[in-house]
Amino acid sequence: MLSAEPHQEARSMHVDPTDIAAINRMTREWALPSETIHPVAIDRVVVAQSAVDRFVHAVEQAAGAAPVLLVQDTAAMTRAGDDLKPMLADRLRRVCKPLVLALNDAVCDAWLGGDERLPDSQTAPSPREFHATLPLARRLGESLGDFAAIVSIGSGSITDIAKYARHLHAERTGAALPFICFPTAASVTAYTSALAVLTVDGVKRTLPARPPDTVICDLQTLVDAPRKLTQAGFADVLARSVSAGDWWLSHQLGMDDSFSEAPIKLLQDAEDSMLHNAAGVARGGHQAVHAVTEALLLAGMAMSIVNQTAPLSGWEHVISHFLDLTAAADRRETALHGAQVGVGTLVSARAYESALEQFDIGLLANELYRPDEPGLVRRALAEYAFDESLLAEIERDLVTKAERWRGARPRRLEFIDRWRAAEITTALRDRVRDPTFIAEALRRAGAPCSCDALDHPVPDNTARNAVAHAHLIRARFTLGDLLAAGGWLSDCNIRALTQP
Ligand SMILES: [Zn+2]
Repeated sequence: MLSAEPHQEARSMHVDPTDIAAINRMTREWALPSETIHPVAIDRVVVAQSAVDRFVHAVEQAAGAAPVLLVQDTAAMTRAGDDLKPMLADRLRRVCKPLVLALNDAVCDAWLGGDERLPDSQTAPSPREFHATLPLARRLGESLGDFAAIVSIGSGSITDIAKYARHLHAERTGAALPFICFPTAASVTAYTSALAVLTVDGVKRTLPARPPDTVICDLQTLVDAPRKLTQAGFADVLARSVSAGDWWLSHQLGMDDSFSEAPIKLLQDAEDSMLHNAAGVARGGHQAVHAVTEALLLAGMAMSIVNQTAPLSGWEHVISHFLDLTAAADRRETALHGAQVGVGTLVSARAYESALEQFDIGLLANELYRPDEPGLVRRALAEYAFDESLLAEIERDLVTKAERWRGARPRRLEFIDRWRAAEITTALRDRVRDPTFIAEALRRAGAPCSCDALDHPVPDNTARNAVAHAHLIRARFTLGDLLAAGGWLSDCNIRALTQP
């Protein structure tokens, strides 16, 4: 078993997110010989107070005077008093031929509906939120042949659409178009991640891709972004406080072979520094935005080196996905991803604290956990009236998870003994942050702590359903599955986890 020592040692290790060579060297050194660690495939990361010149230079270097596709949404943003997106396009026009593709849902609907040409860049803003879907990424990928480079100016959805379109184009043509990413908010881990989160048939999926070649973080832009976006980024990194525990737990139970300390070590110092700056996040201070940005950049890399999101995505993310999935049925907009994840992180931390004290681990031997039981998921989700195709897809994932669970019985029986000997519980206490710390961090950063405090509040019954049933909507095994397997998710316990 892993002891506390490597964890402690990692806390003092400073990692610079712009030094990719050092990151690739360190992560190789940290990994055990049996672990597969992928190098970070990014050429350059810049983090600077004013990085617009370097952005323009990077695009010029990549494309020369040839046409460049700028992918962005239609939301207006300001930077130091300037209208950000027109300013960047103007600067680029001096050195290359940028074509602005400004996406919103109205544009996307028309484009996917059969319009041949790339949408007009002069489109008026749409009140409807832009959604990153697989068909849209495919359509964009088919349009990239005319360009010498692709540039994303935006946050998660824009970055992931550009990332996956470029990936599909590279698969089809064998040539990887240069991709320069200009983040507009310190809100997500997408900028340096080799994974793209896209909606596929109504469900959010994480698809392997390639990260951008160049990521230019202009801190002035990120500081000028709405504060709630930085707060969401803060909460998305905070998820590591519980998700890495879920990943380790899943590994110990024989439900995941991919666990490695390397991604956790990679993020540790930046995560600590971000937490140290929590109060600054609430004020939108430069130093705090800088700290959140560095943590997000390293978090994206932490997932990329193991080619999956598990280091930063456990039960708290499944809870957030459940809130996304049920939003339409509840007639509400989804809240910011990171804000939802922060709420889920507190739920998970509370569950860890209670379960480590009260959980009857012996129940895991009784095989109560049968997520593939016919009709189970349909009964659990009945009030949301999901499409048949979505339910069928969810059920397929559950069969895979249930089969693995049954196959892992010998490992599970050992796990029960190790839990009773306090080996597992001691290790988890070291790996997971306690709920008082999490609640305090969220509060100091000004991020929501409960579902009713989200920018689009979630009804109480959906908040409780998320805790009770979220483990049924995703193939990954997390703390939620362990609690369900031990019959721990009673109404009474769920109320305690979801209290404001
Ligand atoms: Zn996330």
